[in-house]
Amino acid sequence: MIIGLDGMTFDVMKPLTEQGVMPTCKSLMDRGSWGTLMSTVPPVTGPAWVSFATGKQPGNHGVFDFFKPTKANNKARISRRVVNAREVDGKTLWQILTEAGKTSIVMNVPVSYPAAPIKGVMLADMLSPHKEGDFSWPRDLIQTLEPKLGEYTITVNWQGYSAARPQQFIDDEIKCEWQRTRYCLHLMDQYPDWELCFPCFTETDRMMHAMWNYLDPKEREKLKKSGKYDQAVMDKVIEFYREQDKMIAQLLEKAGPETTVFFVSDHGFGPLYGKFMVNNFLAQRGLLVVNQMKIRQALALILLKKMWFKFLKAIGFQAWARQRLTRRAARQSGAARTFYDVFYESIDWEKTKAYMASNTEGGLYLNVKGRQLYGSHVDHGCIEPRDYEKVRNEVIEALRDIRHPDTGRPMLSHVKVREEVYTGKYVQRAPDIVFFLDNGEWIADFSLGKGAFRKADWKTGSGMHRMEGCFLACGPGIRHNPNVTTDIFNVVPTVLGYMGLPIPDDMDGKFIREAFTDEWLAAHEITYAGSSSQEGKGWGEGQDVFNPDEEQVLVDRLRGLGYLD
Ligand SMILES: [Zn+2]
Repeated sequence: MIIGLDGMTFDVMKPLTEQGVMPTCKSLMDRGSWGTLMSTVPPVTGPAWVSFATGKQPGNHGVFDFFKPTKANNKARISRRVVNAREVDGKTLWQILTEAGKTSIVMNVPVSYPAAPIKGVMLADMLSPHKEGDFSWPRDLIQTLEPKLGEYTITVNWQGYSAARPQQFIDDEIKCEWQRTRYCLHLMDQYPDWELCFPCFTETDRMMHAMWNYLDPKEREKLKKSGKYDQAVMDKVIEFYREQDKMIAQLLEKAGPETTVFFVSDHGFGPLYGKFMVNNFLAQRGLLVVNQMKIRQALALILLKKMWFKFLKAIGFQAWARQRLTRRAARQSGAARTFYDVFYESIDWEKTKAYMASNTEGGLYLNVKGRQLYGSHVDHGCIEPRDYEKVRNEVIEALRDIRHPDTGRPMLSHVKVREEVYTGKYVQRAPDIVFFLDNGEWIADFSLGKGAFRKADWKTGSGMHRMEGCFLACGPGIRHNPNVTTDIFNVVPTVLGYMGLPIPDDMDGKFIREAFTDEWLAAHEITYAGSSSQEGKGWGEGQDVFNPDEEQVLVDRLRGLGYLD
């Protein structure tokens, strides 16, 4: 059994086990191997879970972000779309187990839509536009389960709650997680021959985004000093983890004592102090040129849309009717453009040298001639290929001038060029420059025309991703070792080796030997053979999985989770 705990870090879990809040987790830590699981660069849910599932680095599976560049029918001829499972270059653990004749139960793993035909059962994730069709495998599964088990929530939109009622937000997250647990317990009964059961809990991530100022002792002290601390909220935060532990206990009890359990998180967490509008900074430096007219037009459209919503609300239209009417109106006015269409159209591509294209990609692109980025028909490039290194260095030097808004000290950390960070066949698709600001305490934001900085608040959240996630393994043959440090793409090769299957040669990951007893290692041979590559899938396939309405649902969902503006 693999339990996915999105964004979990031992910085949070360990103190909670010591305080008796998470006794099941404590007992696993007392017996098993555990430690830091290093995420992908960037430490973002989409690429990180894909790296987990395939045992490959982003440079080899082709997913660097929640979004991918795409051709578009707009003036810029380029836009972005949400990624999906069909374009991942690399077989997932559950595809490999299917080929080996083993049954899997897989639930809510990010970037698993459309649900793959596997031996067993699968419910897809937050990047599913709805619960119909491709959301489940077998295809009608969710429709047969909901009448028995009650409504299944894909994800809770935490941006929809106000700072004034975090208890309501946490209650809804707990409810959502218990529902996932009930579904998982039911599926374990329905598919008793399962050899892999992998429920992924994503609500842990929302909690840490929203409630980090309560979870981190230093931040909690600051909150107390500011007079904003509320003990009732703290109690509710603790309740979330108490309930999470109970869910894990029920899953393990159902699985039985002979079951080996792994905990995996896709990244860790740390404090977030604010956002830095990096494209506006590049514009100040003359490295990016914005078409101000376009921005004014886009803002006017947004304002009109807001007024239209207000009007519909005033005359008592239900939310669904409002949405339908708004979309129809948008289409008829020729404005059925995504957020990204507006972004790309707002940039003057003849004059722009560098730009950030997504909040969740952790880097900048250079606008190089002849690159025809994004499969676009139009070559937007303005940098001569021979000047690539020179301009890239100029941009890095410019980024070194980013200064903290209060203290004025430089904020750039971990700046790297892409070939230092990535290896593999898709490196050329990665951002040219990858960087962090204050080790992740500030996050670069790609919004155009909205000032230089934004201090963290309820909307941005008080926590943000870090590289250090968590790994735990406990079961027969696994030693007690509380000092494991390993990479996220090593877990699936380890699970395959542990199950007696060969590890595909072209996985980046390796078997995590330090988690196993000498006796187990002496009695078992770990073999590497075959390939799990899905050649050509990483860039090209999966373009048409979502229609424009579905794409809009997903962009709205990612916005609801705080990953856009
Ligand atoms: Zn995550």
